[in-house]
Amino acid sequence: MDLSQMLEKINQDRNSPFIAIYNYINEGKLEEAITRIQNYFNCNEETAKEFLVGFRKRYYDTLKEECYSQLTPEEIARNNAEALDLFVNKPKCPTCGSTNIKKISDFTQLSDTFAFQGHYKQFRCKNCGYKW
Ligand SMILES: [Zn+2]
Repeated sequence: MDLSQMLEKINQDRNSPFIAIYNYINEGKLEEAITRIQNYFNCNEETAKEFLVGFRKRYYDTLKEECYSQLTPEEIARNNAEALDLFVNKPKCPTCGSTNIKKISDFTQLSDTFAFQGHYKQFRCKNCGYKW
């Protein structure tokens, strides 16, 4: 299944995580979005990232313009910067610089506010064991 077929499928399948992925992107939870895409398509992380980029271009940006036109330019810029950071700069261990890191846990079920604040800080380095 290629990218355009995947994009068609998620739009047409009534049980697809379309809305969930949209909301994850909207909240900046791109790691969750990628995990959800991987689970749905049973694909690898690279494919899921490509899909996420395609999803943003094809669906998210359009819907966002329609539904969230009240966002300030600063908010849009910040969202874009965060998204770009995750795609381009894979998180690295601040101690040893290894990219072999793991997200420790997912707090989204616990508290949305807490998850939002702490989302990008729940990592453990598989190389040196440092947590941040
Ligand atoms: Zn480390």
